[in-house]
Amino acid sequence: MDPVIIIGAGLAGCEAAWQLAKRGIPVELREMKPHQSTPAHHSADFAELVCSNSLRSDQLENAAGLLKEELRRLDSLILACADAHRVEAGGALAVDRNAFSAAVTEQIRRHPLITVREEEVTELPEEGQVIVAAGPLASEGLTDAIRRRFPDSGTLNFFDAAAPLVSFESVDMDQAWFASRYDKGTADYINCALSREEYFDFWKALTEAEEADVHGFEDKSVFEGCMPVEVMARRGEDTLRYGPLKPKGLWDPRTGREPYAVIQLRRDNAEGSVYNLVGFQTHLKWPEQKRVFSMTPALSHAEFLRYGVMHRNTYLRSPGFLDRYYRVKEEPRLAFAGQITGVEGYVESTASGALCAIELARRLTGKAPVDFPRETAIGALALYVSNESITDFQPMNVNFGIIPPLEIRIKGKREKNAAISQRALEALAGLDTE
Ligand SMILES: Cc1cc2nc3c(=O)[nH]c(=O)nc-3n(C[C@H](O)[C@H](O)[C@H](O)COP(=O)(O)OP(=O)(O)OC[C@H]3O[C@@H](n4cnc5c(N)ncnc54)[C@H](O)[C@@H]3O)c2cc1C
Repeated sequence: MDPVIIIGAGLAGCEAAWQLAKRGIPVELREMKPHQSTPAHHSADFAELVCSNSLRSDQLENAAGLLKEELRRLDSLILACADAHRVEAGGALAVDRNAFSAAVTEQIRRHPLITVREEEVTELPEEGQVIVAAGPLASEGLTDAIRRRFPDSGTLNFFDAAAPLVSFESVDMDQAWFASRYDKGTADYINCALSREEYFDFWKALTEAEEADVHGFEDKSVFEGCMPVEVMARRGEDTLRYGPLKPKGLWDPRTGREPYAVIQLRRDNAEGSVYNLVGFQTHLKWPEQKRVFSMTPALSHAEFLRYGVMHRNTYLRSPGFLDRYYRVKEEPRLAFAGQITGVEGYVESTASGALCAIELARRLTGKAPVDFPRETAIGALALYVSNESITDFQPMNVNFGIIPPLEIRIKGKREKNAAISQRALEALAGLDTE
C-alpha cells in the first residue's frame, strides 16, 4: 500500500500518523523542522506546544475534559504522552512541554510504519492520500499552494499571542505564595499580589507600553480567546482585575485577605524551574515586557526565559469546503487536520487528526465510516467545522454548545454537563473504531 502523506508533525499530524500506523497503514510524515521553523516553534521535536503548557480542564463536567477522555479511549498518542508527563495544575492537564514533545517524537520516529522526511512542502502532492496538518503557522510556500489550488477555500489570517516564561529561582517568594483559587486541589500556582497603588501603576504602564511592529496583515482583528494583555488593559482600568488578575479566592498569607489584584504563574516544566504568566499573551516589545512586568513586586528581578510573541494564525473557511471527515469535498483524497481547519486549541487539533485518520484508515481497509455522532465531542467538532449553514466561521474550542442537549431535565450545570459527557462516552463505546 502507498503511504499516506502527512504534512506537518504537530499535534494533529503526529496523532493522525499514529492512528493510521496502528491500523497497519504506512505513513510518510513530512516536517520542515529542524531546517526551517515557524516564528513560534523553537525545538526540533514534534508536537511542540507553542504557548501555554496547559491542555485545559481534565474534568468531565467540562467539554475539553470530555474530549480528552474520548481521545484516551481512542488510544491517542498525544494524550498518552501528555498523561505520562503531566505537571500538577489543579483540575487541568498541564505538561512538561519538553518531556512531552520528546516522548511523542520518540514514538513517531521508532514506529516501523512511519517514515519521517525533514523538508518543507511547498506544493500539494498530485497523487495519493494526503493530510495537510501544517498548523496555524503553515509556511508561506504551502499556504500559497493551498490558495492556488483552492482559490475559493478562503484561507484567512488572524492574530494569536503567547505568554512569557520566567525562571522560578528569580521569583521573589517573599512577595508571592503558592495556592490554587479557593484553595481547591493542590497549591499549584504562584500568586503575586498587587496593592491598589501597584495595580494602577502597572495598569497605566501596560496601556502605554510600546508594541512590536506587525507587518503584512491588513486584518488586525484580535482573537478574543488569546487576547494580548495590553489590549485587554486598554479596555478599562478594571478589565484585568476581572480577567487574568482576578484576586477572588486568593488569600495572601501575609494579610489573610484577598489582595487588590493577583498575577498568577503556572508551572511550565516538571522540575518546577520554569513558570508562565497566566493570561499574559502579549505583543509588547521585549524590553517593554521586562520593564512593565517587572513592576510586579514578586517579579522585580524576574529572569525572562522567553518573551511573549504574537503571530499570524491561518485557517480555512471549512464549512462547505471540508466534509465531516475533514476531507476536501471536491477532492476527497486530500484532507486537512488540526488548527488549519478552524478547530481551536491543542486538544481540538489532536482530535481532528485522530478522527481524520481513523476514518481514512477504515476507508483504505474497506470498512464503513465510523461517522462519529454529534453526541460525542470529537464528532460534534467535526460537524461544527463542516457545517455549511455557518456563514461567519470563526475558529472554536470544543464546548457543550455544539453537542445536542439532553432529552431529560437535570438540575445544576455541573450535573447536566457530567450527564452529557456520560452519554458521549457511552455513544463512543458503541462505535466500531478499529
Ligand atoms: C502563538 C500561538 C499561541 C498559541 N497558544 C495556544 C495555547 O495556549 N493553547 C492552545 O490550546 N492552543 C494554542 N495555539 C493554537 C495551537 O497552535 C494549536 O492549538 C496547535 O498547536 C495546532 O496544532 P496543529 O497540529 O494543527 O499545528 P502545529 O502544532 O503548529 O504543527 C504544525 C507543524 O507543521 C509544520 N509545518 C508548517 N508548514 C510546513 C510545511 N510547509 N512543510 C512541512 N511542515 C510544515 C510545523 O513546523 C509544525 O511542526 C496557539 C497558536 C499560536 C500560533
